[in-house]
Amino acid sequence: MKRLSLCFVLLFLVAPLSLFAGCSSQKENNVYRISAQFSENTLSASMQFTFYNDEETSLSFLCFNLYGNAYREGAQNTPLTASQASAYYSGKSYGDMEIVSVSPCKDWEVCGEDENILRVDLEKELFPAESVTVNIEYVLTLAQVEHRTGVAKRSVNLGNFYPVLCAYEEGKGFYECVYSSNGDPFYSETADYEVTLTADEKYVAASSGQTVSATRKGGKMVCEYALENARDFALVLGEEYEVFQTQAAGVHILYYAYDDDNAEQTLELLSDCISYFSDTFGDFPYKTYAAVQTGFCFGGMEYPALVYLSDSLSREEYLYTAVHETAHQWWYAAVGNNECEYAFLDEGLAEYSSYLFFSEYEEYGIDAAARLKTAHSACNALVSVQEQVFGEADTTMDRPLSEYGAYEYVVIAYDKGMLLFDALRDAVGDRAFFASLKRYYAQNSGKIATPASLSAAFKNAGASGVIASFMDGTAIV
Ligand SMILES: [Zn+2]
Repeated sequence: MKRLSLCFVLLFLVAPLSLFAGCSSQKENNVYRISAQFSENTLSASMQFTFYNDEETSLSFLCFNLYGNAYREGAQNTPLTASQASAYYSGKSYGDMEIVSVSPCKDWEVCGEDENILRVDLEKELFPAESVTVNIEYVLTLAQVEHRTGVAKRSVNLGNFYPVLCAYEEGKGFYECVYSSNGDPFYSETADYEVTLTADEKYVAASSGQTVSATRKGGKMVCEYALENARDFALVLGEEYEVFQTQAAGVHILYYAYDDDNAEQTLELLSDCISYFSDTFGDFPYKTYAAVQTGFCFGGMEYPALVYLSDSLSREEYLYTAVHETAHQWWYAAVGNNECEYAFLDEGLAEYSSYLFFSEYEEYGIDAAARLKTAHSACNALVSVQEQVFGEADTTMDRPLSEYGAYEYVVIAYDKGMLLFDALRDAVGDRAFFASLKRYYAQNSGKIATPASLSAAFKNAGASGVIASFMDGTAIV
């Protein structure tokens, strides 16, 4: 996500249920087949989910994150703080994700720390290399809020609109993400998607997936989408969208906007980003890329092959955010990480990638060097404030999202994260730095990376020391 930086004031329907267990000798992707109907503020859906057990242990249950429940009345871990309540533009508003049925299964329940988890007890033990299919029927009600999941003033944001399988960690089990007003509280593994959306024909829909078919009749639009090897899937609906399109590096780029006097320039910037990052890091992971202007209370938000760009940014902020979110296609979408614990891996690298882009493409008028300087100042200011208030500073980078203050999180994940990559470049030189980033991308694309994966890609003791010193807070920035 792009929210705050010191220089840019970042300051249904129900379907039949089925289960089968089968064997497979090689790893196959989990598959989400979602059929959803959207009307006004409600998405009713049937999700057929096929899970392949590629772990070394047998499993008796599955867990899914129910992000939509963070918007419900009485939620403890809310998406926004009290000071960010203006995102609820017409006053208090709530939503939720109601699970209607799960089948076949032995049992299911909505549980977790804050009704954020759907636990499905399987009918029988699922052994390694076996698969199981469950059907989940649910209703997602959207709050009126300019956030990831909500009815915005001029659009409908359908991020996190379905139960998302929790990432599984060998020896630990399913990782339950707790929503947080800090950062992006997401952590998921890649899967394949087949999504069918039915909505009023007044809407234009932007999607993470490639459009397989689109029809309009009887006052409804019905679109089928497909996406492979993606850790999430998002949609945005709007009645006013104009769609601008181009191609770059073999990618079909779509820009959805309702208020951009310089849309052609925005499209050109997106195109330059896709080309530059593909050359610098490795091929873009998908066939299409949708950048979507929408109501969003921060700068922007990344999903695989789709990003939100807030409609309330200055031109400079808008272009910066478009680059930052596009960089997330490499760092977050392709190379995943546990964003609840190591947000700096994707945010820091998205920031540094933006720095690299604007250093190369000066014509967009954004001073990359000044951005780096501002990051230094922000880190120094944070240390100074912490020393005054607490007697000592804590700039460690491996804390869970809930352990940061809002401002502290931004400085640590974005600014200090960005400086980590600048320090790595200083430590190993340009040639090794860019070769190492390419290696990090190639080794971890489609997988989950950790700080150890980053160290391994740099293959350099000096670089490992830099990463360790940034994480444990001993580096002087
Ligand atoms: Zn970001």
